[in-house]
Amino acid sequence: MIVIKDKRDCSGCYACKNVCPVKCISMETDEEGFWYPKVDFDRCIECCACIISCHVINKYEPDNNPVAFAAKNRDEAVRAASSSGGVFTALAEAVLEDGGVVFGVEYDDDFNVKHSYIEKKEDISRYRGSKYVQSEVKDAHHQLRSFLDAGRPVLFTATPCQIAGVYNYLSHFHEEPYNNLYTMENICHGVPSPKMWAKYVAYTHEKKAAEIKKVDFRDKTKGWRDFSVKFDFADGKDQLRTMDDDPYLFGFLRNLYLRPACHRCTEKSLHRKADITVADFWGVEHMHPDFSDDKGISLIYVNSPQGEKLFDRIRPNLTVIDSDLRQSAKYNVAATHSTKPNKRRDEFFRDFDTMPFEQLLVEYCQPSDEEKKQKKRQAKIDKAKNVIKKLIRWEKLRTKIRR
Ligand SMILES: Cc1cc2nc3c(=O)[nH]c(=O)nc-3n(C[C@H](O)[C@H](O)[C@H](O)COP(=O)(O)OP(=O)(O)OC[C@H]3O[C@@H](n4cnc5c(N)ncnc54)[C@H](O)[C@@H]3O)c2cc1C
Repeated sequence: MIVIKDKRDCSGCYACKNVCPVKCISMETDEEGFWYPKVDFDRCIECCACIISCHVINKYEPDNNPVAFAAKNRDEAVRAASSSGGVFTALAEAVLEDGGVVFGVEYDDDFNVKHSYIEKKEDISRYRGSKYVQSEVKDAHHQLRSFLDAGRPVLFTATPCQIAGVYNYLSHFHEEPYNNLYTMENICHGVPSPKMWAKYVAYTHEKKAAEIKKVDFRDKTKGWRDFSVKFDFADGKDQLRTMDDDPYLFGFLRNLYLRPACHRCTEKSLHRKADITVADFWGVEHMHPDFSDDKGISLIYVNSPQGEKLFDRIRPNLTVIDSDLRQSAKYNVAATHSTKPNKRRDEFFRDFDTMPFEQLLVEYCQPSDEEKKQKKRQAKIDKAKNVIKKLIRWEKLRTKIRR
């Protein structure tokens, strides 16, 4: 039976819980708010299905050669509403058009983040946009298996560890891979604590004294490159903040409250398990300057024949150019490297339940005075550089005219 001795060895993917034939495993949250399996030893029959389905214990690396592309959805409204270039929507549409089912991640009424499934195109917007919180998989594996056994095409979208869990779970019941299953994963920085997110939602609600109607972690009003999170409230007001002035985004991107397993992720590789990997195409302005804009560009890895089949279906809905796998991964380090925990992570979680929340945000989730000064200095340098560039362009133009 599964016993987690080191928290870095559990991604909370739910495969062990869902594979158990006697349902003796429950998922319980720890003090940081992450789910871990707990075995009821009195009911355990020691079949070891949980151990076999664990993707951390049963590691494997597929022997494949992914092909990389840069892409944007041709529908500009879809691209604007998506985190990157809107590839997920194109994939979901194709599977739903074939009478299929799409699994993805949505908010519930209280803005908790969880997996569910949809069968209609009008529901795609529930999954659109990244939610930077660990999602609760719950019993999605059982639902997935029943759709697959019924012969329906299914697209399962998740983080790489959740996808690894799906494959290990399915292999317990079905030796051959299902040819009606398509999987899409994102390149993943790491997943933040759901408890931290819940506290931040409650704090924002209280501070604004208005009900939260919508959260968009990748609002593009200020462009795609500068991460901005937007809250819409019932009183018609909103709150739009960038990664430097939104405390939650700041703590997420500084690795303050990621799951311990994210700092030793087993899924960092250029040999990916999902059929298709999607991500932000960081560095696109250097690799493909003519294709680059600030509205969101997707990086796509097509990893398997299944992925190729689905990608060929959606190509007409995208503008696509060939790219280079290794070079793209140099700009997107999260593809191959785990993030390092913030030096103050342990300290943060020691204060998490005792310090007043607003004080916790001030203490841990904003740039230090030195960083603020450094940022101001950098802004001045960038401004001066831009003025010099303009002057040089001007001088060149004047010389041309004189000639
Ligand atoms: C936790 C997390 C970390 C990420 N880290 C990086 C990174 O370091 N570098 C990078 O380039 N890209 C990262 N991404 C991926 C990126 O943010 C986009 O999700 C991806 O490029 C797809 O964008 P899109 O425009 O095609 O579609 P969108 O419509 O924006 O994609 C939405 C898709 O993401 C899924 N999704 C949303 N929230 C979650 C969640 N919490 N867990 C699992 N799946 C979710 C939805 O189900 C749907 O399939 C991360 C995404 C998540 C969720």
